Amino acid sequence: MSGRAVLNVGMRFLSVVAIMFLPLSSAIAMELTAQQRAYLDRLGKVTMCVDPDWQPYEHMDEQGNFTGIASDLVEIISQRLGIPFVIVPTVDWQETLVVSREGGCMLIPFLNQTTEREEWLDFTEPLFVAPNVFITRNEHDFISNPSELVDRTVVLPHGTSMEEFLRRDYPNLDIITVDSEHACYRMVSEGKADMTLRSLTIAAYTIRKDGWFNLKIAGQPPEPHYVNHLRMGVLKETHELTDILNKAILTITPREREEIINRHVNIEFVQAVDLAWFIRLIVFIGVLLTVSFYWNHRLKNALAALRETERSKSVLIANIPGMAYRCLYDRDWTMQFVSRGCRELTGYESEELVDNRVVSYNSLIVPEYRESIVEQWEKARSSKLPVELEYRIITADKTVKWVYEKGVLIYDDHDNVLGIEGLIIDISDRKAAEEKLSYLAATDELTGLWNRRHFMQALQQEILRARRYGQPFSLLMLDIDHFKAINDRFGHDVGDATLRHFSMVITGNIRKVDIFARTGGEEFMLLLPRTDLDGAYFIAERLRKYLETSPIPADLDPFHISVSIGVTVYTPEIAEPDQMLKIVDDALYEAKKTGRNRSVKKTLTSI
Ligand code: GH3
Ligand code: MG
Ligand code: MG
Repeated sequence: MSGRAVLNVGMRFLSVVAIMFLPLSSAIAMELTAQQRAYLDRLGKVTMCVDPDWQPYEHMDEQGNFTGIASDLVEIISQRLGIPFVIVPTVDWQETLVVSREGGCMLIPFLNQTTEREEWLDFTEPLFVAPNVFITRNEHDFISNPSELVDRTVVLPHGTSMEEFLRRDYPNLDIITVDSEHACYRMVSEGKADMTLRSLTIAAYTIRKDGWFNLKIAGQPPEPHYVNHLRMGVLKETHELTDILNKAILTITPREREEIINRHVNIEFVQAVDLAWFIRLIVFIGVLLTVSFYWNHRLKNALAALRETERSKSVLIANIPGMAYRCLYDRDWTMQFVSRGCRELTGYESEELVDNRVVSYNSLIVPEYRESIVEQWEKARSSKLPVELEYRIITADKTVKWVYEKGVLIYDDHDNVLGIEGLIIDISDRKAAEEKLSYLAATDELTGLWNRRHFMQALQQEILRARRYGQPFSLLMLDIDHFKAINDRFGHDVGDATLRHFSMVITGNIRKVDIFARTGGEEFMLLLPRTDLDGAYFIAERLRKYLETSPIPADLDPFHISVSIGVTVYTPEIAEPDQMLKIVDDALYEAKKTGRNRSVKKTLTSI
């Protein structure tokens, strides 16, 4: 936008502002009383003194024509009243005031009401309302409180109401006066004064007309009396005229005022263009164009780079194993975007998942994981760290898959969570391998029973549970009698088969909750939850007897084996698994010592 265009917009804004300040009157039919009509007839004409240099309000040109906003308004009033307004010429505003005070003219058509002026003038309703503003050079700070200004000079034309107000309200300001409006702007522009206080209408007009482009509007005094209410000032002795004028003023419509302002503020340049200013303008435009060219160039490169990044990103996302997503931070994890991998992972098309059109992502999550997933994201809200999750989902064809998810919360500038972005991949194979590994790590290869390691963990947990909930449990230690002899007699393979047979017999005769483990060569442990000592002893005897009657199949002759069993129960004095193992081992030892093929029960207090 060129400087000129900016100004034009400014002017239009200005005329709107001015109109807003005006009383909303439409053309009101004017009715004068017979008395008022007779008064006007007697007068024959109205004489007035104006300010010859107050553009665009008032101006006396070299041919003695009165022009300006005030002139047009007076013209309307004159027509409505049917009486001519005649100018008593003066050289300047000062003289106008003097002539008026001396009664040399009936009225001044366009001035602010002040106490001083009220001494000899009656004032009509406002003809025009416009705020006064401080005009400074561009580098001056904005003026929010004029009383805080220190060492500032304000230049004003002689005898203005603004001078009267400023001297009274802001004694801190150093006021200098000059002969004309133009001189005010020149002094500020040349740095001979810091500021002037002028009507916004005039400032806009003058800055544009005279090309004071190092000047700006820097603020407005807060008091209401710095808004110009321009009225007609009528000599007190002709005060009958005031009411008549008011009737005419009320007939002026907002549209008429707007037309007048536009006519006078939207002026064209009349003076020759200042060359230095013109060169400055050209340089400025040149710099502007160069800067804009440079930025355009940079923007173009940046956009190309961005497009390339976007392209490679979408290729990457489309081909990524698993599903890249962006979702809302809500209980449904409402998907806003999901990558093509959605179908392979969940069995649903991307469109079916986005906006929960067919299913919500949350409904795919196996219910037992849902709460803990919510909790982990809640934690991430405070830590702002990425979240890593492993849980199971149920796909469209009802298969269950293990997934790994890694995502981050996305925030706006005010730290509000906008959503989550991340990736979800299928880890079912890895989980299956892990489960197999941990199964292998916990079981005995020969018999398929739990191994010693797993048994020790189970025992530890059962002790904790017993301690916390007061549930009893018992422990059996079983050792095959004279097993060495079987190996010696039938060979190692038969020995192994015997161990397997023994495991099967016992497994088939215990509860699912019981934990049966091979803890040594031909030594086994049986953990019996919720079982007291007598119950455990009873089970031990039942198993022992059952084994007696369960021959081991062999190529030649089936043979029988027997087992010795130590039995003990958990009591609250037991703190460590080893303590319990020691007791049950003692019981077994006693069973062996006292003839084998028997069960012996012992507790901590009985050893
Ligand atoms: P006791 O009645 O006192 O328990 O006598 P025992 O012979 O059963 O006990 P001992 O501890 O003297 O011998 C255990 C034998 O079990 C020794 C070992 O060779 C054998 N053995 C240990 N593990 C295995 C195995 O995995 N397979 C086979 N076939 N034999 C095993
Ligand atoms: Mg043995
Ligand atoms: Mg043994």
